[in-house]
Amino acid sequence: MQFEVPPRLVRYWLDGVSLPAAITDFSGDDPPETSRDGLVKASLLIEAGKIAEVVVGAAPQDGVPHLPGGKRLVLPRLIDIHTHLDKGHVFRRAPNPDGTFFGARETVGRDREAYWTAEDVQARMDFALRSALHHGTGAIRTHLDSIGKQIGISWPVFDEMRSEWHGRIALQAVCLMPIVNVMDNPDEFEKLVATVSRYQGILGAVTFLGEAPDAKLEAALDKMVGVAKTDGLDLDFHVDESNSPDARSLEVIADALIRHKFKGKALAGHCCSLALMSDEDRKRVTGKLAEAGLNVVSLPMCNMYLQDRQAGITPRWRGVAPLHELDSAGVSTMVASDNTRDPFYAYGDLDGVEVFREATRILHFDHSARPWLETLTTRPAAQMRMPEKGRIKVGAAADLVIFSARTMNEFLCRPQTDRLVLINGKAIDAPLPEYAELDGL
Ligand SMILES: [Zn+2]
Repeated sequence: MQFEVPPRLVRYWLDGVSLPAAITDFSGDDPPETSRDGLVKASLLIEAGKIAEVVVGAAPQDGVPHLPGGKRLVLPRLIDIHTHLDKGHVFRRAPNPDGTFFGARETVGRDREAYWTAEDVQARMDFALRSALHHGTGAIRTHLDSIGKQIGISWPVFDEMRSEWHGRIALQAVCLMPIVNVMDNPDEFEKLVATVSRYQGILGAVTFLGEAPDAKLEAALDKMVGVAKTDGLDLDFHVDESNSPDARSLEVIADALIRHKFKGKALAGHCCSLALMSDEDRKRVTGKLAEAGLNVVSLPMCNMYLQDRQAGITPRWRGVAPLHELDSAGVSTMVASDNTRDPFYAYGDLDGVEVFREATRILHFDHSARPWLETLTTRPAAQMRMPEKGRIKVGAAADLVIFSARTMNEFLCRPQTDRLVLINGKAIDAPLPEYAELDGL
């Protein structure tokens, strides 16, 4: 039976639910005892939209209504730190011809040129956000293709969507361009930096474009990191999304951040080729990431789709960054959706639960004592400078997702389509949009 929160209730206990200890602050001094999979039986007092108490065990008999949650797992709304809302849901008109990275890049380029008007981008973003809201996502960072005329189209649309979605999903945007543009097209880069600053965005670029790192990459990074320092911008790169032995730009980025003593927040997405380096190389690069404060987000679903794809040949590797090794070395690691129904990834629906379930299987988050739920909650919250999100604690908004599961195994075995999403302690009514809505685009 689906769990319900009566709409008129403003003060109530979620009684005896399972909470993940790694992302919960319990009232009281002693760390509570956890189950084998890191869960604690506890109760949450919800009051005026906020979490007012987090007590271990059953809720006290204090006259406040109790909602019996003995068979439920509760998580904060998840945070998707790497998406492409501007590209999403073009699958019908622009499928990837062969499922490869280069097939994706070419197809997206053509689609962008032909169709990406403000109306088109806005309609697809809105569709994607409604899906994410339904699934229980609380914050999203999106990359925005920022080349030529598209800069003046996508950023204002994004800004409008951010206002419109305020209070439902918190939004953040990163500019995405080939890093060669920084040197080859300095005027456009200058305008782009002004746009990013105006919209409180994040500075980003793709750093591997099929060529080994050279002095030009270093010069471009010097310029980007320098601008980020002066303008107080955070950084977010697409890095080495390839199995090529030439895909070695991650170390060059870490070197640049160290050289400039960069103190903002920096993130590297993908980093696939790091998994294929020798142990010696990987350890050296990983050490530099930790020193530079360059964190890593893996995009496991997209990587499984694009990496190691050759017609007629079964893929031999999973395509993902070595998250266990990075995590051990003190690098903050995360996972996210990446693309949604576009040439870079044909599937997906901006469902953080799907991302975590797939990441568990692809990256072996299971049989591991590490608190991997942080990869979609507290860590992206910190990276996005939204520390009030992604954690169950007193004083935080009661932005929660309630699942029919008592253990992590029960949580991961089913798609959890009957989950209940709360915003400020109230159950939301947000049905999934119908695909037919996109037919006219
Ligand atoms: Zn991406």
